[in-house]
Amino acid sequence: MDHTTARERLDSMLAELDRSIRVLTGEPVAVRERSAADAGSDLTEADRAQAMLDVAVAQRRAVVNALRRIDDGVYGECVDCGKPVPEGRLEARPEAARCVQCQSKQERRR
Ligand SMILES: [Zn+2]
Repeated sequence: MDHTTARERLDSMLAELDRSIRVLTGEPVAVRERSAADAGSDLTEADRAQAMLDVAVAQRRAVVNALRRIDDGVYGECVDCGKPVPEGRLEARPEAARCVQCQSKQERRR
């Protein structure tokens, strides 16, 4: 995938994430009050919204980092081993910073 296409896709992902984050942070008070009322349930509305927000924020960070790698001219190289990230992987996840091997190593460390 060339850098122009990657940048376009990342830009639209960024806009989408910003929208989601705005929606998720837009109504916290009502959600929080409700969750305090039924604190007995396992996964409250607030917890769910928070979990979605965490995912969106993490995703946004990955997208911003990928855009930075395009600026630095290192987009598409694994940040750990420097080998090219396979094209198919970038197609599926343009924000991917690591090749499959390094990503699974990274996930095992967590
Ligand atoms: Zn790697």
